[in-house]
Amino acid sequence: FWLSCLEHFRNELNAQQFNTWIKPLELEGINQDNETEVILIAPNRFVLQWVQDNFISHIKSMAEEHFAREIQFHLKIADQTKIPNHTKTVKKVIASTPSQQSKQNKKTSSQLNSNFTFDNFVTGKANQLARAGAIQVAESPGTAYNPLFIYGGVGLGKTHLIQAIGNLVHDNNQQAKIRYVHAEKYVSDVVNAYQHKSFDQFKVYYHSLDLLLVDDVQFFGGKNRTQEEFFYAFNALIEAHKQVIITCDSYPKEISGLEERLVSRFGWGLTVAIEPPELEMRVAILIKKAEQEKITLDEHVAFFIAKHIRSNVRELEGALKRVLAFSRFIKQDITLEITKEALKDLLAVQNRQISIENIQKTVADYYKIKVSEMYSKKRSRVIARPRQMAMAIAKELTTLSLPDIGEAFGGRDHTTVLHGHRKINELRASDPAINRDYTALIHILRG
Ligand code: ADP
Ligand code: MG
Repeated sequence: FWLSCLEHFRNELNAQQFNTWIKPLELEGINQDNETEVILIAPNRFVLQWVQDNFISHIKSMAEEHFAREIQFHLKIADQTKIPNHTKTVKKVIASTPSQQSKQNKKTSSQLNSNFTFDNFVTGKANQLARAGAIQVAESPGTAYNPLFIYGGVGLGKTHLIQAIGNLVHDNNQQAKIRYVHAEKYVSDVVNAYQHKSFDQFKVYYHSLDLLLVDDVQFFGGKNRTQEEFFYAFNALIEAHKQVIITCDSYPKEISGLEERLVSRFGWGLTVAIEPPELEMRVAILIKKAEQEKITLDEHVAFFIAKHIRSNVRELEGALKRVLAFSRFIKQDITLEITKEALKDLLAVQNRQISIENIQKTVADYYKIKVSEMYSKKRSRVIARPRQMAMAIAKELTTLSLPDIGEAFGGRDHTTVLHGHRKINELRASDPAINRDYTALIHILRG
């Protein structure tokens, strides 16, 4: 059977296609009697994915015709510790959905997660530009902006947005070849291609996509071979008017260890930022997320959570999950009281994260001076000593750098901060009163 199958594809495909995709496949025996499962072994993931997307249903129907019964095909990657000649042992089961339509396979191999859509992406000032750009690109891939470059801090919705684009493009055109890939995964694909000398297949795969979504591209920093491969893929896709979308935690020019030619190319299309959401938007997100769990969230509750969790959307979601879980656990509806109780630990931890303003205020109050004197130019001992104390404590209790601390004290030099820290430590050893002040202040600040 397999020989006739090979023969069929040899006639059907051109030599390069045949040699790239079909010839390297190996069939792990079909039992003539009652065996209904067949394993096809591919030399690497690219071949596997390609065969899965393009050939498997054809192979399956030929087999079913030949044996006159239903046959399940499973694709696996060859055991990579052996020379891929004939392999009986198979290590990784990568895909095993051959009987489904290739439409379904397209979606699976694209790595898209259908939970991330534009519908459940809350819009506000912080992300409206990014969202508008994303929708335009999703509606006319390859022709609006190429590439679309989305950047912003952690947990602000970059992955959600890039996935939503993929999902919308897929919904509009089920034949589109889409691939979502996290940059770290792309790096390991390059390493793999190296190890298995499969750069040709790697290229054919990535260069033939209609839409390539690369998430967190900052991971390419310092990885030269990856950048080179990506440079080729990028050029090939853009030239063919295929859409490329990239996310990153920073602006292209600020990615460390990224080649200049990539930096400049990233700016060819549209570059948009996602900012941290403001209070009302955080409230809207909470209400939306609760809705998805079939819960109507009281506005007071939503405001309480949104006021206290300011860092990013992921943390916001985490807090909401805690509240939901707690209310389910004690079998009571969500009230403000219950919310406070559920978030007690979380908020305590947060309060312990001490800000420099907090330190300045506490120290100023303690020594009965004005906060503004902390960053004034005054050098008299009654001001200078508390100021040194505050600097020393800031160095101790925060993760700020010396220049950052200096900046917060009226733009002072980092050596001034260092000097203040040393001075206080010396005095603590020689002057019990100073040591007592220091310990008391730390105690107050840590709560
Ligand atoms: P990033 O990739 O920027 O680190 P994610 O896309 O993973 O952030 O977002 C973190 C979580 O927050 C996800 O669950 C996502 O659905 C949610 N999220 C972020 N922004 C929004 C938004 N505007 N509306 C709804 N959910 C959001
Ligand atoms: Mg992300």
